[in-house]
Amino acid sequence: MLQSKLFLKTLKETPADADSINASYFVRACFAQKQMSGAYALLPLGFKVYKKIEKIVREEMNALGGQELLMNVLQPKELWVETGRWESAIDIFFKLTDSSKKEMLLAPTHEEQIIDIVRHHIKSYRDLPLALYQIQTKFRNEPRAKSGLLRGIEFVMKDMYSFHASEEDLNVFYEKSKQAYFNVFKRLGLDAKLVAASGGIFSKYSHEFQVLTEVGEDTIYHCDKCDFAVNKEIAEVKEGDNCPDCGGKILVSRGVEVGNIFPLKTKWSAPMNATFTDKDGKEQIFIMGCYGIGLTRSMATIVEVYYDSAKNKMVWPKEVAPFDVHLISLGENTEAEKIYDDLTKKGFDVLFDDRDTSAGEKFAEADLVGAPTRIIISKKSLEQGGVEIADVDGTKIVKISEIDL
Ligand code: ATP
Ligand code: MG
Repeated sequence: MLQSKLFLKTLKETPADADSINASYFVRACFAQKQMSGAYALLPLGFKVYKKIEKIVREEMNALGGQELLMNVLQPKELWVETGRWESAIDIFFKLTDSSKKEMLLAPTHEEQIIDIVRHHIKSYRDLPLALYQIQTKFRNEPRAKSGLLRGIEFVMKDMYSFHASEEDLNVFYEKSKQAYFNVFKRLGLDAKLVAASGGIFSKYSHEFQVLTEVGEDTIYHCDKCDFAVNKEIAEVKEGDNCPDCGGKILVSRGVEVGNIFPLKTKWSAPMNATFTDKDGKEQIFIMGCYGIGLTRSMATIVEVYYDSAKNKMVWPKEVAPFDVHLISLGENTEAEKIYDDLTKKGFDVLFDDRDTSAGEKFAEADLVGAPTRIIISKKSLEQGGVEIADVDGTKIVKISEIDL
């Protein structure tokens, strides 16, 4: 992509209403536009990163055995009356009526609809287990919409729902899902901790995947030696205590919940009377699990972790970077275009700064775009024998014929 053609209008100043690193970065770097509190549009650069996150999530959910579908944003009231949620969760719902006064809802989550789909189609234990997921925009009237894409009233979630004939079978899948989640977050460049959280009245625990960082809204107690970690909401330890698992020291940190998994069991399938016939011909209620990942929240979390405020510089993790390489040409030369063609042919996604602007401006924008590898070609680099390649490992001069990424 030629930078002269790219939709990239960066801002020098932090927007006055930015309350977090990602809120400021996304707007300054032209990755997103804030339309109102909690609702952001993804601009071409932001959408590129988002698509890469989506791809990773999709690949890992497919590998886990999930089948992708797409449910409705607009939902009929009747489904939500069945579980009792039409009245009980009223404060976070965006409700609306059509022209004939029929009441509807912009979906904040999809347990009701997935159960409705499954109870229509699955009648026998032979069709279980089953895991279905979607990647879709959700709507929640969050009273605390804030921190850029971390907490939106409109945001993208991957939500998977699993259906089982027994609790043992749910447990097996639940454990496998943990590994799939670790794979996702590792590929996103996020070091997510598995944290025990409240399981409600049906289960002892649920689990959250928390990235420890200051901007987080959750308080996590975790061990300095082993993997023990628990959300403050159910913690029986405090800072400085000995770890109940290994005797290490308990630390306290803020965390962003980028995903969670929940053994729902029959919480919603029972009130919706969703049943199948078991081996003995008896009717049983589906045993369920649900598994969420916040895609837009994860994208914001990556910025919170990787943006260097002191240097005003972003470096995206490789698998989600908007471009693999930022090729920056300073002054006149004939080589830059050849390198661009060559790398593009080799399959790299290259952003080529072909504009006639100052080096300062080019570097400041490159710092915002955040490609993990930068190739600079200038009179100076050519005199030194080639191009300058800068990445997380440092900077080196490389001959043009030997550029190897
Ligand atoms: P939180 O406690 O942060 O409100 P939640 O428990 O309501 O999250 P779920 O309903 O389980 O979350 O949603 C699954 C995932 O969707 C969460 O782990 C989070 O990553 C993401 N998510 C939830 N609410 C929001 C939001 N308002 N904006 C962005 N992402 C969200
Ligand atoms: Mg919530």
